[in-house]
Amino acid sequence: MAISQHPPFASPAFEAASNRLTIDLGALADNWRRMDKLSGKARAAAVLKANAYGIGVKPAAETLYAAGARDFFVADAEEGAALRPLVPDGRIYILAGMWPGNEPLFFDNGLVPIINSEEQLAFFMSALSERGDHPCVLHVDTGMNRLGLGADEALALAGDPARPASFSPILVMSHLACADDPTHPLNRRQLESFRTVTAAFDGIESSLANSAGVHLGPDFHFDLTRPGIATYGGEAVNGMVNPMKPVVTAEARILQIRRVRTGETASYGASAQFARDSRVAIVAIGYADGYHRSVSGGGVTLRQATPSGAFGFLHGQKIPHLGRVTMDLSLFDVTDLPENAARPGDYIELFGNTIAIDDVARAGGTIGYEMLTSLGARYERAYIEA
Ligand SMILES: *Cc1c(COP(=O)(O)O)cnc(C)c1O
Repeated sequence: MAISQHPPFASPAFEAASNRLTIDLGALADNWRRMDKLSGKARAAAVLKANAYGIGVKPAAETLYAAGARDFFVADAEEGAALRPLVPDGRIYILAGMWPGNEPLFFDNGLVPIINSEEQLAFFMSALSERGDHPCVLHVDTGMNRLGLGADEALALAGDPARPASFSPILVMSHLACADDPTHPLNRRQLESFRTVTAAFDGIESSLANSAGVHLGPDFHFDLTRPGIATYGGEAVNGMVNPMKPVVTAEARILQIRRVRTGETASYGASAQFARDSRVAIVAIGYADGYHRSVSGGGVTLRQATPSGAFGFLHGQKIPHLGRVTMDLSLFDVTDLPENAARPGDYIELFGNTIAIDDVARAGGTIGYEMLTSLGARYERAYIEA
């Protein structure tokens, strides 16, 4: 399926590429709509940080805007300035907040800073007095101990009679530490803490849930949800069957088929050992493409958790990775495919429609988020329009 089903628009460059990505913007839009619906009365934002989780901020922003998103989260002001022309009337929130020196980016591009600390609050107030009113978001830490004013600091601010009238956040937000584990008691504790803060900022919109938080149910939705990974097709909740559509399919070409004999070895460190005569596909994908060395079939120290590495997919079968992932090349065992089924020039699927990106991530001791945001620059990319 995934292997032969090339996008109908495939370019000559796509047909000739050593490795390539098919990015399904229809699936992206469907996933976002699904998260928006799951958010109930709350509206869903789109999270576009890190080049839209690696898939490309321009196509992602245009697709999600067309699907109805009007709130957009990115990490820093440069990302926000690049996003502005793509979503002219969208609200763009900057997670890292405003710093001395980058405030022109906020005022010139209408970016909303997220205020994460007393220092950022003081700086924002001084910028306001120079430049006039500007919206902001107040970030409150309710237990993650990462960014945000402490809940007590936020409550003091809410009740401060000397609080300047020009300080009027349009949103109060917090972030969950354990939403991917629905049974974790910290979820409820953070919710209770956040409720005391939102009550003190009565009449101001509020936001708590990332993708996994949306699945925790209506109590966690407030006014605005912030689903990222689920939109991109990744797993949000541990142990839950992933209900989202895969967005990214990665394929790489077989450059050569080798025959090896029982007792021989392959790859660096002689890390693939053969207990039978075998056929090995030499595939044009490596850690320089974000196919992490830790997904190696063998020969990687410190990876005790999973005995085997990643699998690829070719002609209807899963094929195991052999030996170490190298910079540009990987080996896959195609011995169990019919003789001559695997040929030089064939593309194997690395992850996507058939092999879940999170399964490859697990083989390498990491998460789908990291696989996506590491997608290398060498892939030829094709986008399926929504
Ligand atoms: C990245 C991020 C999100 C999105 O999280 P996902 O787990 O990808 O859904 C939401 N909120 C904040 C503050 C973030 O940094």
